[in-house]
Amino acid sequence: MTSEVYAADWVVPVVAAPIRDGAVVVEDGRIAWIGPQADLPPRWTDAPRQRGVIVPGLVNAHTHLQYTGFREIGAGSYTSFEEWSFVFGELYDAVEPSSWHEAAREGARLAIASGTTVFAEIVTDTPARGALPECGVGGIEYLEAIGQFDRIWREGGRADFLAWLEEPTDARRGISPHAAYSLDGSVVTDLVRIAADRGLRVHSHLGESFAEADFYRHGDRTVLGAYGDLRDEFELVRKGGVGHTTGEYADAIGLLSETTHVAHAIYLDRAERDLLLARRTQVALCPRSNRVIGLAEAPVAAYLTEGHEISVGTDSLASSPSLDLMEDVRELAAIARKQGYTDSDLEERLVRAATLGGAKAMGLADDGYGGLSVGGPADLALFDIAVEGTGVHEVLVADGAGSCVLTVAGGREVFRASA
Ligand SMILES: [Zn+2]
Repeated sequence: MTSEVYAADWVVPVVAAPIRDGAVVVEDGRIAWIGPQADLPPRWTDAPRQRGVIVPGLVNAHTHLQYTGFREIGAGSYTSFEEWSFVFGELYDAVEPSSWHEAAREGARLAIASGTTVFAEIVTDTPARGALPECGVGGIEYLEAIGQFDRIWREGGRADFLAWLEEPTDARRGISPHAAYSLDGSVVTDLVRIAADRGLRVHSHLGESFAEADFYRHGDRTVLGAYGDLRDEFELVRKGGVGHTTGEYADAIGLLSETTHVAHAIYLDRAERDLLLARRTQVALCPRSNRVIGLAEAPVAAYLTEGHEISVGTDSLASSPSLDLMEDVRELAAIARKQGYTDSDLEERLVRAATLGGAKAMGLADDGYGGLSVGGPADLALFDIAVEGTGVHEVLVADGAGSCVLTVAGGREVFRASA
């Protein structure tokens, strides 16, 4: 049996305390041993030591890799979700569908080179499917339904979606009702049921636009700007809303459950956040995407103090400058401090959010993702950073971005920085 030993200044298993001068032994795609280098069994003690910190492979809890070619949009800045959606829609319509596949693979490679091995990857167009297994990494490809009102869904939309879902794939499948506003409530409820019947996870956008709440409450069409004349077909526009907050509406249509996680979750008040907590629905925070689009900062400190298990996403290059998850972790730390979070556990909780938190959001923690433990999948990343005079989590949060030098997924080296 061949084994590989990864030894570094620190190993941070996340599911256990950090190990100074630690080592991880990998055999057949699994972790065979983990502990201090001083305790390594004799047959492995000759392994080379490297500077830096080993962590579990990062979990990007919200992205759309097929938009990796949309850098020009992500490099801009906008004043509202609706303004950004319009610019995005124009470029989206101009894309040659076959190019989605290479874009998704390129996105996966970029993220892998910054330490990510597990993705909550939303797939809108068929050619983008399969990028994760092709690049040797894991996660879930959530097939997206968007812009469907009840009539279209009944007149063929549902049958088309089911056929799409059943297509053979090497990737783990999930379902993404795009958002509670871009589909009629009956369609979202049906999608959630389809997922439950098949044991699939669900992932959606929630509370990303300020205008969203007015849609659920009064049927205000602002958030549907990208849909033009079709807006009037949406049930909530016809009804003039249902008087619900964003959280109440999402719950009423079945979107909040422990098998669903939601991205952004910016415009939710305490009662709505408590509803998510009660339903065990996790949030994936994407702070850099929110900044580019011109949105408010998510209530990061509130999520932490109110007891949420949070996760982190980059979103796509259509709304973010890079797919380096540690950049978002650093930004979350700054936002949390600015919002008044004072506990010294902040950096440790954010490292957990970028690993175990993401794995839990996707139901993959029970399979050992998001942590380093014996018998678990050999997914890890090495960051070439120096830990001197401060805690290892603090250094990871401050300096982790841009410093990944090695990524291992399922025991295979999927990225190694050239010397
Ligand atoms: Zn998104």
